Amino acid sequence: MALKILVTAKRVEDPESKIRVKPDGSGIVTEGVNYKMNPFDEIAVEEALRLREAHGGEVVVASIGGDKAQTEIRAALAMGADRGVLVRHEGPLDPVVVSALLARLCEQEKPDLVLLGKQSIDDDQNQAGQYLAARLGLPQGTFASKKEGLESEAEQKKQPGLKLGASGQAIQVVREVDGGVETLELDLPAVVTVDLRLNKPRFASLPGIMKAKKKELKDLPAASLGVDLTPQVVIRALAEPPRRQGGLKVADVDELWKKLHVDAKVL
Ligand SMILES: Cc1cc2nc3c(=O)[nH]c(=O)nc-3n(C[C@H](O)[C@H](O)[C@H](O)COP(=O)(O)OP(=O)(O)OC[C@H]3O[C@@H](n4cnc5c(N)ncnc54)[C@H](O)[C@@H]3O)c2cc1C
Repeated sequence: MALKILVTAKRVEDPESKIRVKPDGSGIVTEGVNYKMNPFDEIAVEEALRLREAHGGEVVVASIGGDKAQTEIRAALAMGADRGVLVRHEGPLDPVVVSALLARLCEQEKPDLVLLGKQSIDDDQNQAGQYLAARLGLPQGTFASKKEGLESEAEQKKQPGLKLGASGQAIQVVREVDGGVETLELDLPAVVTVDLRLNKPRFASLPGIMKAKKKELKDLPAASLGVDLTPQVVIRALAEPPRRQGGLKVADVDELWKKLHVDAKVL
């Protein structure tokens, strides 16, 4: 069965950038910071593409944000997604608002499967996918992983970790849980959030980047979706963690033991 997949691509600070908190704690210093697609969303896009390659269908990529979020949509289009939707919103967002907007988008697009990252690395909330499933009344599979692992033949062959059932009406999700994995079968349509060990995302090829420029990118004002855009969560202040102490070298295991046992009293 061909699958219509809606996948999200959030614009986040590049984890390689040096992040500094503003002196008044009201946010982070954005000058000199690079942005990119949330790494978990890259994994979600990769999985969507593999499912389309295996079963046919369409991959629609959505981002909620300002003009600049088009860059992340184009990046997903360059990887191979078919078309994009920018839900245009310049103000602050939280998972409550994001999930409400995505729910409206899903009502319009009617995907068989919604794929999101398990969390975005800027706010680390791990909520949007769960709220979305609840709003739509759909089954959810969180922390999707690959049973065979990332060094497996299945991964070498770029096989999807999510397995579509023979009927095409359900999808199997192997999810990471404490101390192992759990396998769920979800009736479609469903919402799945992806973890690090589901796949290794592809790089966009040069022809892919050229093609992406011509792919459809719909501009949808958030205000047109009839959602209350007031965030329910307000960040009052940010603070940097305490500076790490310099490390020290030890000559041998005996000295390491003494440092840990006698000096630090942690063993
Ligand atoms: C997209 C993304 C996804 C992530 N997902 C996960 C996840 O699923 N699970 C998770 O746990 N983390 C995750 N992380 C966090 C990431 O793994 C941490 O950033 C990483 O562990 C770095 O930790 P660190 O800064 O302490 O540095 P590290 O250099 O990795 O140090 C970690 C610790 O290892 C020890 N260590 C390191 N090098 C040495 C050495 N040479 N000798 C002795 N001891 C050493 C030290 O105790 C050190 O504090 C994720 C990060 C990103 C950006």
